[in-house]
Amino acid sequence: MKKTVPPILITIVIAILAFLGREDLAKLFEDETNKPTITVTDTTKPHKPKDNPDKPKPVKGKATRDPHLALGNPSKAKNDAKSMANYLVECPQYALAFDNATGNAKWVAWHLSKAWKGEAKRQDFRPDNRLPKGFKVVTKNDYTASGFDRGHLCPSDDRDGSISDNEATFFMTNIIPQAPKCNQRVWKGLEDYCRDLIFDGKELYIIAGAYGVGGTGSNGGLTKTIAKGKVTVPAKVWKVIVVLPIGENDLTRVDANTRIIAVDMPNNQVVADKDKEWWDYLSTVDDIEKNTGLDLLSNLQIPLQKKLEARLDKGENNAQKISLEKQYGSYPVKYDLSLE
Ligand code: MN
Ligand code: MN
Repeated sequence: MKKTVPPILITIVIAILAFLGREDLAKLFEDETNKPTITVTDTTKPHKPKDNPDKPKPVKGKATRDPHLALGNPSKAKNDAKSMANYLVECPQYALAFDNATGNAKWVAWHLSKAWKGEAKRQDFRPDNRLPKGFKVVTKNDYTASGFDRGHLCPSDDRDGSISDNEATFFMTNIIPQAPKCNQRVWKGLEDYCRDLIFDGKELYIIAGAYGVGGTGSNGGLTKTIAKGKVTVPAKVWKVIVVLPIGENDLTRVDANTRIIAVDMPNNQVVADKDKEWWDYLSTVDDIEKNTGLDLLSNLQIPLQKKLEARLDKGENNAQKISLEKQYGSYPVKYDLSLE
């Protein structure tokens, strides 16, 4: 029995193939118009997308939201109104220890994984109404014209899963007077790098804080306090990041090979000069403990703490830098300097 293909169908197939840039196949159809059967064996896709080697790999395992203090409470802070120099605030989004004398957190600790990410819009700064009566109330306006950014410790972008998650990062207890070049360049570079890691199969435990007195903001000179002494301007800002592959029972999975990134950088306007990046400020947990009097990673066995805390991370390697350049066009990214 003779099978024929209706001419309208052939026209449609030719049009589709021409659209896909397969004139060769379209030609074949044209030639075949009067023949009873059509066999197309070339199944090559016309436009196979080029494999991008830098595309983030699919993440194995499910990212979760985990307890912020799994690795320890660095100052044994207490949620007790009498503990004014070391007052613990725990919320779903992070934990922090507030020091009423400086008006700043001694540290903020938070877990970071893909599970915290979302599309919530950036909120606005607000006084922390969670502090007991008698504590300093730092407000957004305390920073006005100070020459210092309202620098997040736990970044806004790490908590955009919901509006309330994002709002929590805008309590002024999570904010320090940070030199704009520090906040917007070097510090932000490391924040971005952390978020790259969580889209590359990792989950992180991050602790950040500041210490010392006196920084240099956009007004120049050395500033020791702002808002008539209410808030101390720190001399240095630091951060410690524990990097784990996504998984469960995180505390038990930290071992001698676990990557620890520690940085300690000056709170001034020359911190990013000469294209300096966060990896130019690598430090050790040991040094940060010495400088701050905190005990970081205190829930780990002592021998393990000793090993990890003495280790200096290698920072960004060339391959990572090149990958970021491909992703963003240039790295470091040009930051929006209007952001605080
Ligand atoms: Mn910031
Ligand atoms: Mn320690």
